Amino acid sequence: MAKRSSSIVTLQEYLNMVAELKRHDELYYDLASPEISDYEYDQKAALVLDYERKNPEHVAKDSPTHRIWELPSQGFEQRSHRVPMLSLANTYSEEEVLHFVERVQKGIGSTKPPTLFCELKIDGVAISLFYRQGQLVHAITRGNGKVGDVVTANILTITSVPVVLKPPFPEEMEIRGEVYMPLATFRQLNLERQKEGLALLANPRNGAAGALKLLDPRVTKTRKLELFCYGLVSSDSFVRTQSEVYQALARWQLPILPMGYWGVAEEVEGVFRFVRKVGQERGQLPFEIDGIVVKVDNLAFQQELGVTGKTPRFAVAYKLAPERAKTTVLDLTLQVGRSGVITPVAELQPVELAGSVIRRATLHNRDEVQRKDIRIGDWVWIEKGGDVIPKVIEVDLTLRDASSRPWHMPNQCPVCHRPLAEQESQVAVRCVNRLCSGKRLARIRHFASKQAMNIDHLGPKVIEKLFDLDLVREPADLYILKEGDLENIDGFQTKSIHNLLNGIEASKTCDLATLIMALGIPHVGAQGAFHIAEEGGTLERLFEMTEEELMSIEGVGDKTAKSLCAYLLDREHRVEIERLISYGVVVRPHRKILKGDKFKGKTFVLTGTLVRYTRQEASKLIQSLGGVVVSEVGRHTDYVIVGEDPGSKLTKAKKLGIPILDESQWLSWLDAEA
Ligand code: NAD
Repeated sequence: MAKRSSSIVTLQEYLNMVAELKRHDELYYDLASPEISDYEYDQKAALVLDYERKNPEHVAKDSPTHRIWELPSQGFEQRSHRVPMLSLANTYSEEEVLHFVERVQKGIGSTKPPTLFCELKIDGVAISLFYRQGQLVHAITRGNGKVGDVVTANILTITSVPVVLKPPFPEEMEIRGEVYMPLATFRQLNLERQKEGLALLANPRNGAAGALKLLDPRVTKTRKLELFCYGLVSSDSFVRTQSEVYQALARWQLPILPMGYWGVAEEVEGVFRFVRKVGQERGQLPFEIDGIVVKVDNLAFQQELGVTGKTPRFAVAYKLAPERAKTTVLDLTLQVGRSGVITPVAELQPVELAGSVIRRATLHNRDEVQRKDIRIGDWVWIEKGGDVIPKVIEVDLTLRDASSRPWHMPNQCPVCHRPLAEQESQVAVRCVNRLCSGKRLARIRHFASKQAMNIDHLGPKVIEKLFDLDLVREPADLYILKEGDLENIDGFQTKSIHNLLNGIEASKTCDLATLIMALGIPHVGAQGAFHIAEEGGTLERLFEMTEEELMSIEGVGDKTAKSLCAYLLDREHRVEIERLISYGVVVRPHRKILKGDKFKGKTFVLTGTLVRYTRQEASKLIQSLGGVVVSEVGRHTDYVIVGEDPGSKLTKAKKLGIPILDESQWLSWLDAEA
């Protein structure tokens, strides 16, 4: 792989690149539809990091090099990590691994290179399992590195996860690992989803992340997740090396990587041999990997080396170049986005790549097609960057047919045939016809999607059907659908009709951030929506907020503020929101996450239904004030907060003599001055 090139010189270039990376973070983490490959992202991030090293006084507060991106998930308790869960610095070349070894050697003040440890970098979701006296107490996702979602019930659907460890074990310890979706399961699930007209899972990582965040563990179980453990956090120093960690994990009967895919490398040449071997065998592995993790074997050295930004200094990820495939371009078509942006798409001769059959590749914009000079009939190399729709990397010019002609962007919308307009920049070409069916359809798709209202059983094919039959032309129309409307539609049976109507009904109560996101306002993504909801609180207040006010919110940029204001000033958009409300959509006010340490060091258990807050909101509040919420009453519980119809936890709390607060007692404590 080529050495990283070019550099960022000015502060403005740096800030532009930070903004660009934030946009890619949002596309990748919140919308699960990255525009660039991980490799391209990592190249850009490396430039930012390089500039930050040279200009520490310029480091942006929200620089992606210092922040792990993930919002808390609805419906889960959140919990702080005892030791932060970090990301990994990455390299793509042997030369960079050598630099890593040099840095480590210098860091530990040694005269010889340290012993290293290599293991596969599984492409899944990081998890922390907390065991007390050998019993699994809870499992938490990485979240933003400091606070994650408690997903214990979902982790317990993984049959290889022991609830009780094989003794002996330390009193308390945390196991770190990666939850993943095996490739066979991923393929099977996508086949089934395709048959049902549902959106396909982008890749096994997204499949695992989605399954882990399902509220019903019975559904998670059907996703057949698996786990590999690789880390141990414990105050007992009974293991001295990463190799001994693996041996201990195996003794406790925790699932670890198969033999041959982890081990010590006494010298750096051993690391390169490991990387080459894995590179050759990657295609045969039953799970997806995106590289090799190289760690310093000695745990005391790991401690000594510490952390920089969001990555530990003792490890580095040697990322493997994305897999490629070659195929021909059958046609170049256009896709209309929800805001009218037109995206050229290459329709390809189907080809297998990284576990999926690829039929289409996004070309992003007119300039990209022209820059790469992609033509109908060309042989092209494609690469998967983490999305369902992969990317065309380059044309194989040696195979080009002499009679082929350069492609030109049509000047009409492919759906409504009205002239296209060039706006904002020369790059984005848009259909500006408000009534364009292509735009409308894309807006409904976005509204119903997982990242927005998350309407179950309403996949793209079903939406298309409802749209073609004129039953749903706007998102609000979904909420007036009746059983009778669906009865005579081809392919709809009683069960599927009920599932769909239940899915729509369940989406009716949403929080403010979700609604803002679902409206599909240009430049307003999940993070922006969250910050705005934090500040605005209610829908009514949102309508009153000025552009300046919005701009002053941390995490909300000028473009987002302007775009939101323009959207809400538009009469048609206001009518649309009014229709949603009049058809029963209830937008719950956003509960601002308070900060403080009122509940510091206190452990709470919630039981029964609370009136003023949902359980999730109450948990968030407690956490934001320094407390911890656990699901089971035990000796370590400080208070049990009791709502209506409490469960057996109340009985247990009484038995153990744990202080019990009813909701109003807890609220007065909450509202009292610290
Ligand atoms: P990462 O996935 O590169 O590495 C860190 C993670 O590796 C850990 O949190 C852990 O979950 C995992 N891991 C797997 N096996 C491991 C092992 N054996 N030991 C230790 N950890 C192991 O980092 P990240 O913070 O999760 O994601 C950042 C990366 O995501 C970027 O470097 C980039 O490649 C990608 N990204 C891409 C885009 C895009 O637009 N394509 C946007 C944002 C991020």
